[in-house]
Amino acid sequence: MPPAPFRPRAKRHVTPVKRDRLPSHNFARASYGPRVIGLALGFVSVAGVLGPRGDPWWIWLGPVLHAFVWPHLAWQWSRRGNDSVRAERRSILIDHFLGGVWIAAMAFNALPSVLMFTLMGMDSMIAGGRRQFARGAVAHAGGIAVGLLLYGVHWSPTSDMVQVMACLPLLLLHPISVGQITYRALTKLKRQREDLAHLSQHDGLTGVYNRRHWENMVKAEFARFGRSGEIATLVLVDLDHFKRVNDTLGHAAGDTVLRGFAQRLQASLRSTDAPGRYGGEEFGILLPGTAPREASELMQRLQASLSTEPLLPQRVVTASFGVAALTRDLPSHEAWMRLADQMLYRAKDRGRDCVVTAGDSRPAPLTAADGLHRGLRDDVPIVKRVLAGLSLGDIGAALFDPSDRLAWANAAFLRLYAVPPQARSFASIMRHCHTEKIGPRIDTDNIEVWLEAADNKRRSVPRRSFTIDLCDGRFFRVEEISFDDGWLLDLWTEISAEQAAVGVG
Ligand code: GH3
Ligand code: MG
Ligand code: MG
Repeated sequence: MPPAPFRPRAKRHVTPVKRDRLPSHNFARASYGPRVIGLALGFVSVAGVLGPRGDPWWIWLGPVLHAFVWPHLAWQWSRRGNDSVRAERRSILIDHFLGGVWIAAMAFNALPSVLMFTLMGMDSMIAGGRRQFARGAVAHAGGIAVGLLLYGVHWSPTSDMVQVMACLPLLLLHPISVGQITYRALTKLKRQREDLAHLSQHDGLTGVYNRRHWENMVKAEFARFGRSGEIATLVLVDLDHFKRVNDTLGHAAGDTVLRGFAQRLQASLRSTDAPGRYGGEEFGILLPGTAPREASELMQRLQASLSTEPLLPQRVVTASFGVAALTRDLPSHEAWMRLADQMLYRAKDRGRDCVVTAGDSRPAPLTAADGLHRGLRDDVPIVKRVLAGLSLGDIGAALFDPSDRLAWANAAFLRLYAVPPQARSFASIMRHCHTEKIGPRIDTDNIEVWLEAADNKRRSVPRRSFTIDLCDGRFFRVEEISFDDGWLLDLWTEISAEQAAVGVG
């Protein structure tokens, strides 16, 4: 089954940023707009006191410069430095100081004075906590002292209606803008926490879980099994001869294979399954609620897809799979992982590119086409699996069909049962298997008599049936049919060991 097309998860992209947008400038940037508006509104509340007094024009110079020129200077100052948070804290202290000067200039008019101190204190708290607030209070007091020196000591705390109205815009808008900044900062913090959590749980190259997190998931699944007994299966996968990929095609191609394999994994798993990168080219898959047979079939499909749809255009990279179900006799999650690892080693031992499941002694059959495709006729473990995967008709034909179509299967058979080169006829193969007690054997005490009878039958167009023991727990009843050009075994029927013992057929 071809794997479903891979759908990558939504990823956040990091775009290159201009200098004044570097993260360290964010704080000053976020403060710029609110400072421009806040000081403009602050000017209105100061003007509410100074205006009706008819002070000389130069008295206005300070508030005008502070309200309309200073915010832009502060922003330029912050963005030119390396540490904008520090620069911003410095600017807030200057705000405090100048605020103190205006308080003295306003003769301590209660509402605008308290408002100015409170709102600037709020800014200080946000920018640097209690420490900054304390510094701000000192700067404020310093400003008041300087203001008293500049404007003289005046005391007129009563706020009239005009002054109250002049303070209202600042009173309304400043807390809202502070709220907005705080909300933005919290949202960003939340996103950064999520990013951090993702980074700490996932592998950077492949995007699947990293080893630490994946092992924790295995541990949690093991604990859950202890409580609920819900089945789960674990798979360890190792890419075959991966070093050769790096050595011959380069490390970048190796990385492409790793990423491609991880994508293939994710595309073939359910959302509840957990794939992780266990080490360099080794992956783990936790399959909760999945029986070993189901897991093994899934892995076989994945394994087959690596040959039919290679991860690299110029090279087939195969993988070996060790599958282990969670059972009561496993004392710990480490033991569970060790079992899967043992199965993986067994898969490597069997010639790689296969799935080995704990408790399943018979290797998964390869199709004949797979065997041919991979040209593995000289690899005994693979040959065994080729034969295990042959259809019954193929086995019969493979033994005796000299045509090119099945020559590879013949070669596989001869290699598997160590048939000597000179023994290539049907009779000599059967004699070899019988005397060596390997491979397909005929249920006869005297192979020579049997062969002679068979030979006679061949000439006389006979029909006979006999039992074959494939030496792997399987027995077949074979209906023998002869042709003029040689033997062809046909009509193989699997029978039980008991039936074979009593000589059915
Ligand atoms: P086998 O079939 O027995 O598993 O052989 P192998 O070559 O796959 O195994 P071996 O352990 O000899 O080699 C694993 C290689 O994986 C060696 C290492 O350089 C490579 N590797 C590990 N991590 C990475 C990675 O992140 N990227 C790349 N490109 N290669 C990696
Ligand atoms: Mg490997
Ligand atoms: Mg390895």
